[in-house]
Amino acid sequence: MPDTPKIEPLHLQGLSDYHCHCDYSVDAVGTVDEYCDAAIRRGLAEICFTTHYDFNPRSDRQANFIVVRGDKRPTGPESLAPYVKDVRRAADRFLPEGLSVKLGVEFGWFPGCQEDVRAVIDRFSIEYALCGIHELDNICLCCRAHVERCFSRFSVEEAVEAYTAHVIQAAKSGLFDTIAHLDYVRRYGLDYYGPSLDSVFESRLPDIFGALRSSGTALEINTAGLRHGVKSYYPKMNVVNAATRSGVAVQYIGSDAHRPDQVGFDFDGAGALVAGSIGWCDDL
Ligand SMILES: [Zn+2]
Ligand SMILES: [Zn+2]
Repeated sequence: MPDTPKIEPLHLQGLSDYHCHCDYSVDAVGTVDEYCDAAIRRGLAEICFTTHYDFNPRSDRQANFIVVRGDKRPTGPESLAPYVKDVRRAADRFLPEGLSVKLGVEFGWFPGCQEDVRAVIDRFSIEYALCGIHELDNICLCCRAHVERCFSRFSVEEAVEAYTAHVIQAAKSGLFDTIAHLDYVRRYGLDYYGPSLDSVFESRLPDIFGALRSSGTALEINTAGLRHGVKSYYPKMNVVNAATRSGVAVQYIGSDAHRPDQVGFDFDGAGALVAGSIGWCDDL
């Protein structure tokens, strides 16, 4: 790290951060150990690494890589293996220091990914499988460079329908513990389409929640929305409340950290929202 970030301890101690990237992800910096040190300094009880695993062969955003010690390798089980080894080593190293370290992966969703996702989860005994919907029509909806081209293909209703269809398919696959940043289409969609995006998205919530409930897929509170300028967590608070009311498990908090100083980002605010968000540390 070029400069030492300031990492303040949280007031709420003992929380778990279930969405952290590290430098195996192409868009993140900081080693596994640097993230673990940051988690300890924040006062977290647990950190779950969720490196990107993007392998949509039709994707045009060139994200299908895993970075191993600075070397960009095509996404695949062989490229993931060093990450798995590194996280498991950190789990052994940091447990005596009071930090539980879990092995997770954020799979980028595309129709047809299911068999490969299952194989990765089984091969490496992945402890937490997170699913991110990052593309519509194989074009990135969450990189500034691509969003104009992505959204220009869709009306607001069509964009929400395409996004929702992915969420529902992913949930129904039963492969994932959690759908990440449930309303991520807002990140750039809100600027592109205006506030009607929210009402159109919210009209689809009954179907989304039905798929989450029937498959036992949980929802995360992802605090990165506050860093992305959407003025809320992902999903918006009224969506979190509606999910809770409808019986969806709102179970995890994730910072979606892409730098060590983002670990536990805004957890003083988010921690109180999630029952059971205190670290479970079952192997202590
Ligand atoms: Zn994501
Ligand atoms: Zn992420």
